[in-house]
Amino acid sequence: MSQSVIIVGGGVAGIAAGVALSEEGLHVTLIEKRPLLGGRASSFTDPTTGERLDECQHGTMRCCTNLADLLERLGVHDKIKYHDRLFFLDKEGRQSVIEGCGLPAPGHTALSFLAFKSLGVKDKVGIGRAMIAMLRAGEKPEHEEIAVSDWFVKMGQTGNAVARFWRPILVSACNENLDRISCRHAFKIFCDGFLSSPTAFHFGIPSLPLGSLYHEPSVKWIEARGGTVRTKTVVERIEIEDGRATGVTLANGENLKADAVISALQFDLLLKVLPPEVAAIPLFARLSEIELSPIMGVHLWFKERIDAPEALAILDRRIEWIFNKDKSWNRPPSAGTYLSLVISASYPYTGMSKEEILAFVLEEVSACLPQFAGATLLKSQVIRWPKATISPKPGVDALRPKSKTLIQNFYLAGEWTDTDWPSTMEGACRSGYLAAEAVLQDTGISKSLLAPDLPATGFARFLRKK
Ligand SMILES: Cc1cc2nc3c(=O)[nH]c(=O)nc-3n(C[C@H](O)[C@H](O)[C@H](O)COP(=O)(O)OP(=O)(O)OC[C@H]3O[C@@H](n4cnc5c(N)ncnc54)[C@H](O)[C@@H]3O)c2cc1C
Repeated sequence: MSQSVIIVGGGVAGIAAGVALSEEGLHVTLIEKRPLLGGRASSFTDPTTGERLDECQHGTMRCCTNLADLLERLGVHDKIKYHDRLFFLDKEGRQSVIEGCGLPAPGHTALSFLAFKSLGVKDKVGIGRAMIAMLRAGEKPEHEEIAVSDWFVKMGQTGNAVARFWRPILVSACNENLDRISCRHAFKIFCDGFLSSPTAFHFGIPSLPLGSLYHEPSVKWIEARGGTVRTKTVVERIEIEDGRATGVTLANGENLKADAVISALQFDLLLKVLPPEVAAIPLFARLSEIELSPIMGVHLWFKERIDAPEALAILDRRIEWIFNKDKSWNRPPSAGTYLSLVISASYPYTGMSKEEILAFVLEEVSACLPQFAGATLLKSQVIRWPKATISPKPGVDALRPKSKTLIQNFYLAGEWTDTDWPSTMEGACRSGYLAAEAVLQDTGISKSLLAPDLPATGFARFLRKK
């Protein structure tokens, strides 16, 4: 097939579209402004050590079937280590684990949940009731309009259940506070991620930097199929003439033509490269109503090699997750210890200095992992992403467009588009596949590229309403 496609933006969405379309024989040109592909899920090179480091820790779950499909195609799915036990640590130093127990879904983690030390009987009974209600809720338009914090009140959830169960899981998954997460998104996370299938909650951690997971394998894939990947290349304008996309103009003045153009940019950046008269069309103009929420990542390097769990969810504190990169990346003991911490919905820290952040973070690390008290901190980095992900607020889904636009041969990808998923790598991957499906459809090929969801099993098959 001689059809040519330009994809603007080499994040997970752009990669997914490029991989799928080059596999179908289209000539793909993927354009990315940064040195490495991967976008928000990418890496940078440490100027002092030359080491490839992630800007912020990323994780996935077994329910992210399209991301798994993409990584499988790229030959790197085995670089994701899936953990079938999730560890939680509360302020009193009690550690609990969520793990499978062999019962059918949705009871597959019931025994570990009953033994969860940070929750009392009343908390657990309420959580169980709410989980069944989530499975039975089906997909109703009103779920898009109600904040899950209000629903928890209606469901009589205890303060402890919210603080030590619902909040840690949903805020990490959605990168947003509970009063800014719609029931639709919250229910989806629990139904798809925890309740329907016994393996869905298994937590995947990359065993190599994100840049290495995405960049080289994607370049190799696309180039092997006759496509081109241009990094360090900035698209200044997407060219649209007479209601039809014709190509792009680069910052260096070069003009590239193609039969179709996919934008895989974040929506605020898309609005900047569209011709003003196109950006003013309501479909695009309304995108500026989508709100974004911040994440903060803190990296700590210690001189000594100190043992710590590979991934630990922290309850009752400002830090939400501690990841031990020595274990994930199999770093040699001589490299000391490298911890990566994540704080989602990091609104309170926007105005704080790096020194203030470092001070509370180090205090909390020592409180959670006493073996780090007195360790020699060699280096640290605080990375703030003010516009990390879209807010899954009530009403947001009405603003998320489909991949096919009013403009002929112009398609949208990006985790913010209408993927039915929150702002994640899985959402980005789905959007890329959906945009590729739309391009193929317009060339006369009807093909479904989306990987199927994990099927509901056990009693969840009967309980879950679609
Ligand atoms: C700190 C942080 C932590 C996260 N943690 C997780 C997690 O644990 N699990 C998870 O699933 N998701 C996580 N996410 C969300 C996930 O990273 C994103 O949803 C996903 O990567 C978005 O992919 P995308 O391709 O849609 O967009 P992007 O990654 O934003 O890709 C857009 C690309 O376009 C490029 N670009 C921009 N302008 C131009 C231009 N003019 N010309 C050419 N190229 C351009 C950008 O450089 C970028 O590479 C996290 C996000 C952040 C920021």
